[in-house]
Amino acid sequence: MVEQYEIISDIGNGSFGKVQKIRRKTDDKILVWKELNYGKMSEKEKQQLVSEVNILRDLKHPNIVQYYDRIIDKSNQRIYIIMEYCEGGDLALIIRKTRKQSDHIAEDVIWKILMQITLGLYQCHRRQLNNQPGNDSNPNASGEAPQKILHRDLKPGNIFLDGNGNVKIGDFGLARVMNHDSQFAYTHVGTPYYMSPEQINESKYNEQSDIWSLGCIIYELAAQHPPFQAQNHLSLAVKIKTGKFERIPARYSEELNRVVSWMLCQNSIERPTVDDLMNLPQVSLRIREKK
Ligand code: ADP
Ligand code: MG
Repeated sequence: MVEQYEIISDIGNGSFGKVQKIRRKTDDKILVWKELNYGKMSEKEKQQLVSEVNILRDLKHPNIVQYYDRIIDKSNQRIYIIMEYCEGGDLALIIRKTRKQSDHIAEDVIWKILMQITLGLYQCHRRQLNNQPGNDSNPNASGEAPQKILHRDLKPGNIFLDGNGNVKIGDFGLARVMNHDSQFAYTHVGTPYYMSPEQINESKYNEQSDIWSLGCIIYELAAQHPPFQAQNHLSLAVKIKTGKFERIPARYSEELNRVVSWMLCQNSIERPTVDDLMNLPQVSLRIREKK
C-alpha cells in the first residue's frame, strides 16, 4: 500500500516517470520509488510489465540496484517500483561534475567501475548458460530455467553509486517493458548515444549489445563525451555504423584503450563477453583484491 511510505523529496523525472525518495514507515528505511503510468498500456503490455518486475525481484547482487517491492495503485493507474536508494547519484552526474571542474577521472577509478559493472552484468548474462533448450540441469525453484536478463538501456544515467562507493546498475529490463526497445524511434529518451550498430540495423538485441553500451560508458568516463556524437539521430546512426572514434585521452593506458575498442567492435560477436571482461588482468586482479 502506498500509505506505508512517506514521500521525502522528488529526485528526478526520467523517461519512465517520476522518481522520489521515500521513507518506509515500519522501520524508517530510506528507499526510492519509481512511478510508472500504465494507463495507456494494453492488457498484454501490463502483464509483461508485471512479469518483468517479478524477474527484477529475483535479481539480487551487490552491483545491481536492489528492488524491494511493487505497489499497484489502480485508482490512478500507477505502478510504484520500490528500490534501494543510491545516495552517490549516477555516473552522468559524476561525468558532468568532473568536466565542469576541468578535472578527470583517475584510471584506477575507471577500472573499478568497469569491474563492478561487469560483476553485475555477469549475474544477468550468465543466467541461461546452463539452461540451453533441452538442458534442464539448473532449474529455479519454480522448475523453470532462469531467464537471461539483458539490460537494454545501459547509459551513465543508469549506473549509480551508493553511500559506500559501490557501483550499481539500475533500471534492469525495464526498457523492454516500457517499449524502449525501439529506442531510436523514441524521441523522449534523448539522444541514443549508447545504441549499438545492431539496434540501428534493427537486428536482434543480445547481451553483446549491452557490452557495446558498456564500452560507450567506459569511453565517456575517460573522454568526458560519448564516442559517437551528432546533431541529429540520423547522422548519429551513420557515425555509429561507421564505427570511427577518437582514442580516449593520452593520459589513459593502452590497456584501457584496448578494452574500450574491443567493446566497441562493430560486429557483436567480436566484442568481449562478460567472461572475457572478468578475465582481464586489470579486472580479475580487482575482483580478487575485493574478496
Ligand atoms: P532515466 O529514464 O533517464 O533513466 P530515471 O527515471 O531512471 O531516469 O531516473 C530519474 C532520476 O532519478 C535520475 O536523476 C536518477 O539519477 C535518479 N534515480 C533513479 N533511480 C535512483 C535510485 N535508485 N537512487 C537514487 N537516485 C535514483
Ligand atoms: Mg534510469
